[in-house]
Amino acid sequence: MEELRQQLEKQCLINQELQRQNKDLEQRLQEKEKLLQELHSQYHNLEFPPQRDNDVEPEVRKSRAAVIAPEPLPETVDIRKSRVKKTSSETGLIVKAIQKNDFLSRLDDEQIAMMVDLLETINISRGGEVIKEGSEGDRMYIVAAGKLIVTHSGRVLRTLTSGEIFGELAILYNCKRTATVKAKTQVRLWCMERQNYRTIITNKSKKKREELMGFLKTSRTLKDLNDVQLSKIIDSMEEVKYQDKDVIVREGAEGNTFYIILKGEVLVTKNVNGHQKQIRRMGKGEHFGEQALIREVLRTATCAAEGPVTCFSIDKEVFEETIPVEQLELFDDSKMLQEAKDPAKSSPSSTLRFKDLVPVLYQEGRYQGDPVTLGVGGFGRVELMTELNYGKYYAIKRVSKKHIVAKRQEEHMLFEKKILKALQCDFIVRLHAAFKDTRYIYMVMEFCGGGEIWTKLKEVGRFDEQIAIFCTSCVVEAYAYLHKKSIMYRDLKPENLMLDVRGYVKLVDFGFAKELVRGEKTYSFVGTPEYMAPEIIKNQGHDFAVDFWSLGILIYELLVGSPPFSSSEPQKIYSKILDGVLSYPPYLSEAAKSIISKLCRPRPGQRLGNTKNGIKDVRSHRWFGNMNWHKLRMAQLDAPTLRLIRKGPCYINFDRFPQDQTKADEELSGWDRDF
Ligand code: ATP
Ligand code: MG
Repeated sequence: MEELRQQLEKQCLINQELQRQNKDLEQRLQEKEKLLQELHSQYHNLEFPPQRDNDVEPEVRKSRAAVIAPEPLPETVDIRKSRVKKTSSETGLIVKAIQKNDFLSRLDDEQIAMMVDLLETINISRGGEVIKEGSEGDRMYIVAAGKLIVTHSGRVLRTLTSGEIFGELAILYNCKRTATVKAKTQVRLWCMERQNYRTIITNKSKKKREELMGFLKTSRTLKDLNDVQLSKIIDSMEEVKYQDKDVIVREGAEGNTFYIILKGEVLVTKNVNGHQKQIRRMGKGEHFGEQALIREVLRTATCAAEGPVTCFSIDKEVFEETIPVEQLELFDDSKMLQEAKDPAKSSPSSTLRFKDLVPVLYQEGRYQGDPVTLGVGGFGRVELMTELNYGKYYAIKRVSKKHIVAKRQEEHMLFEKKILKALQCDFIVRLHAAFKDTRYIYMVMEFCGGGEIWTKLKEVGRFDEQIAIFCTSCVVEAYAYLHKKSIMYRDLKPENLMLDVRGYVKLVDFGFAKELVRGEKTYSFVGTPEYMAPEIIKNQGHDFAVDFWSLGILIYELLVGSPPFSSSEPQKIYSKILDGVLSYPPYLSEAAKSIISKLCRPRPGQRLGNTKNGIKDVRSHRWFGNMNWHKLRMAQLDAPTLRLIRKGPCYINFDRFPQDQTKADEELSGWDRDF
């Protein structure tokens, strides 16, 4: 008996011990899981990923895309001061480093040469910090000699040695550093500041366009075209490279391309009695083959490269798409848009008073009694309010003035307000009034009760074609209206598309919109990485064509559920965009693939929407089937999106957000005088 009791007691003790250990293990498991989750979320923004060979494809976009706000560039930068002479072995190291870098290697030769020129050398002693996690990046680095250590939250990610590049994203825009880099040994670095790089590349791109304009104006065939048309031609042209002795055009062959020489020399010869007779040499700025653009011709001479040659060329087919451009009459719907407006709907904005607006409160759930927040963006918070007497709902965007000043976005806020106020289109959110106090500015907008397209898309994974066509059609109408007013939108993405209660789509968020004279270009780095056109990434200057690029990306994302060029690392997104390889899942229709690839053509001048018939060509693409554009504008179509909209309290189609307990600091510099 005693023995049995002792054994039982022993067993009990063992059991207890085992239980304790189990608990311990469980706790450790939980901790590990938490750590894993944390790592996962951090991994999302890593600028310095551990080295891996291949991407795991495809990556689905799960989180809202980050936006990149344009920053003002200094007017002038002294290039001579920035230029640093390099030995040939230094140049070799730098070029090799750039070529090895996934993103930088995709820039063109000229930009790479410019980088080599601009890199300055700095020395860091052992233990010195080069980059601090969380700080804002303004330069990139190449390791010339020595070793550095990359850490993130105190954990070592990797070591950097000679010939490796880091922090390169900062060359494009103002981004937060996601890791710390410290010198492990005495280190020598090549470094380059964004402001320098961007100013110089921008000036260079501008000069190049001016130069090309000059060249085109010397062509007899093109001399009567105006600057807008010539600019369009430049947008359609492509750079081609030839080796020594390459024949560019051959006598007697059918001609269909026009060339301008950018670099090198071209030898023109003609066959005379069986001998190649040299007629002349041509150099930079001269052109040949222009007749091919306007009529059927056989080449009357042979042109061959003397040494390496770079030409800018355009094919007859593309040329015909580009010219004659009746841009000024591209859009035919001004009357329609006016008719479509229902005067009863547009509220008398001047009579709306701030003090008559009261917050709408959550009626149930865990935030019951708190004011309804519809969304929180990079810049502000949008809350739901109602007018005391009339019960009409409004979405009020409230942005901290201090934050605006800190991010240097004063101009953009003023512009957003000015532009929204001037726009009256059923496919664009209405701005009814704007107010300000010492801490915030407020924009009182029409309430789009159907919620965000982004949320709906995440709910269902991907849209069926009918819904995607309908959403895109609304965007096309908004574009037609905006472009006619010479405004580029520049921030298309599902996050910025809202549904009204009828299921019609409206553009919101005009923070990045910009007015641009036709034929001119702008050079800011702006937008959302996944939606950015290649010419923005390359700093070549951009215009309305970027909106058509992003329209192609949008169609893709609506149909597939995530955009075609995506990655958790922005550099990789940019590399993919510059590669421009679109791969379509098998379930996409032929028509969908066709419209996407036409909108996402790398040369802006060749993009659907930006060729000679303008937006008409988009509307008449077969993907839209028998879309009745007129009825759409008149709001007479039943929206297929209606089945995505939930019925219930007015905020039911929105995520819920806790109340904002903070109060922004006062900001009294007076930049918002005209707001
Ligand atoms: P970001 O610059 O990060 O895109 P933001 O601060 O400029 O954001 P908005 O994009 O204008 O803000 O708005 C933030 C969110 O608020 C939207 O994504 C949307 O969910 C909601 N929202 C904005 N405008 C309206 C509206 N008129 N009606 C209903 N909800 C709206
Ligand atoms: Mg937004």
